[in-house]
Amino acid sequence: MRIFDPHIHMTSRTTDDYEAMYAAGVRALVEPAFWLGQPRTSPASFFDYFDALLGWEPFRAAQYGITHHCTIALNPKEANDPRCTPVLDALPRYLVKDNVVAVGEIGYDSMTPAEDTALATQLQLAADHELPALVHTPHRDKLAGLRRTLDVVRESALPVDRVLVDHLNETTVKEAKDAGSWLGFSVYPDTKMDEDRMVDILRTYGPEKVLVNSAADWGKSDPLKTRKVADAMLAAGFTDDDVDLVLWRNPVAFYGLSGRLQLDAPAPPEATHEGNSILRGGA
Ligand SMILES: [Zn+2]
Repeated sequence: MRIFDPHIHMTSRTTDDYEAMYAAGVRALVEPAFWLGQPRTSPASFFDYFDALLGWEPFRAAQYGITHHCTIALNPKEANDPRCTPVLDALPRYLVKDNVVAVGEIGYDSMTPAEDTALATQLQLAADHELPALVHTPHRDKLAGLRRTLDVVRESALPVDRVLVDHLNETTVKEAKDAGSWLGFSVYPDTKMDEDRMVDILRTYGPEKVLVNSAADWGKSDPLKTRKVADAMLAAGFTDDDVDLVLWRNPVAFYGLSGRLQLDAPAPPEATHEGNSILRGGA
């Protein structure tokens, strides 16, 4: 089984996670730029983070046989902090990089005017750079958040079929599907979506344009949720081909819209990245 996790924050995860993900079948992933828990106080700390998503993290992933791409954006939550919004002006110099396969995560957190501006600006940047966009939908007020998100997308220069709307659930999937976007589901332990609910959604709405991710980050989350959904699909009678469509071909098709996806197994990494290795001790 080959698995592509289209949304996972490896910066917050350990090498044990990389090892377990490889063993479970994960061969490729996309790490969206997002909030780090601790609020950032200046654009410079975003730039160091973006550089890590483009340099250090692919270097780590390659040592576990996993291909790493990223998406770059000012996230919805920090779009509300005027100390951070100058990041928007610097995005074009990151969006031209080969490893950047979408603009994201963008979207709404609390649906403020500052978030409106950041979302519209970044949808335009995606259109200008011929990139698709990964759009986060709010965890509160989900249906209202989805509708407003789709309205802003429709008013933008980016066609809705170049948008992956993420964090969908039973209340939002139908409207997103009817709108023609790609459909993202983050499968978490305990809360929000779980693998059995995911299987029910796949039964009702089918596997076309559906992407499943672990969205694993610094909070309670599970980087093997992609594999657990695949196993739940097989146990429920879906075929190997259905699993391959949802867990591999759909993410490849969506991020492939960038023209930048490189899925050959990662080359053996250089011994160090800017003088640092993941090794400890003499080895
Ligand atoms: Zn995320």
